[in-house]
Amino acid sequence: MNTDKSIWVKDLTKKFGDFTAVDAISFEVGKGEIFGFLGANGAGKTTAMKMLIGISKPTSGAAMVAGYDVFHQADLVKQNIGYMSQKFALYDDLTIKENARFFGGIYGLTNTEIKSKTQQLITDLGIQEVVNQNVGSLPLGWKQKLAFSVALLHEPKIVFLDEPTGGVDPITRRQFWEMIYKQAHNGTTIFVTTHYMDEAEYCDRVSIMVDGRIDALDTPAQLKKQFDAESMNEVFLKLARK
Ligand code: ATP
Repeated sequence: MNTDKSIWVKDLTKKFGDFTAVDAISFEVGKGEIFGFLGANGAGKTTAMKMLIGISKPTSGAAMVAGYDVFHQADLVKQNIGYMSQKFALYDDLTIKENARFFGGIYGLTNTEIKSKTQQLITDLGIQEVVNQNVGSLPLGWKQKLAFSVALLHEPKIVFLDEPTGGVDPITRRQFWEMIYKQAHNGTTIFVTTHYMDEAEYCDRVSIMVDGRIDALDTPAQLKKQFDAESMNEVFLKLARK
């Protein structure tokens, strides 16, 4: 077991009755790496991610996340990661400051820490003029950038992003990825699912799930070579058709 890695996964499996949603997947993710977790709808990505963030018990296999065992130390896993999904991001009926206070509290930060980190976040995002507005009134792209920043309030070692840019325009997606790069450059490990193949090109390494298994895993450049493809989109289509 390599506990030096940010994420270490060995034969991780999840069954729902007779159906195997995640079928003995194995991989490792290094510190500060941007790891893309791809797959068609229903391939098993969300099910796998839920096991890695400690909210779903695996049927079998093993996984260490941020140095903790997802089987026996799920609470420690949760405390040491950040999580952001398109579906569960911030509360629309709370202001930016109220959301930061709420999530900062959940992440176990003190009031002083919450205040200073919220101020930092507001400055970094340049959103002084809207801090007292309800989050629901902000454009989707702003909400997603804000949700990403809030997921990082407690300075987790790893952040899990589940389709973070779904429905967001290309310019905002590019800005979002600049935030991801900056964070990875500072040493945070990024685990990200996406349906946008241009975003797959931005990852250090990409895994592609097909029917619960990881069918390909490498750098985008190597995957294109391996599949004799011009783009990650072509790699994805070749695997999906297989
Ligand atoms: P998407 O991109 O659509 O989110 P996904 O790759 O995340 O897809 P999962 O949501 O992990 O896929 O689903 C994988 C398979 O497991 C699907 O066939 C789904 O119907 C099934 N599944 C997921 N959760 C359950 C559950 N609680 N009970 C039974 N089957 C489930």
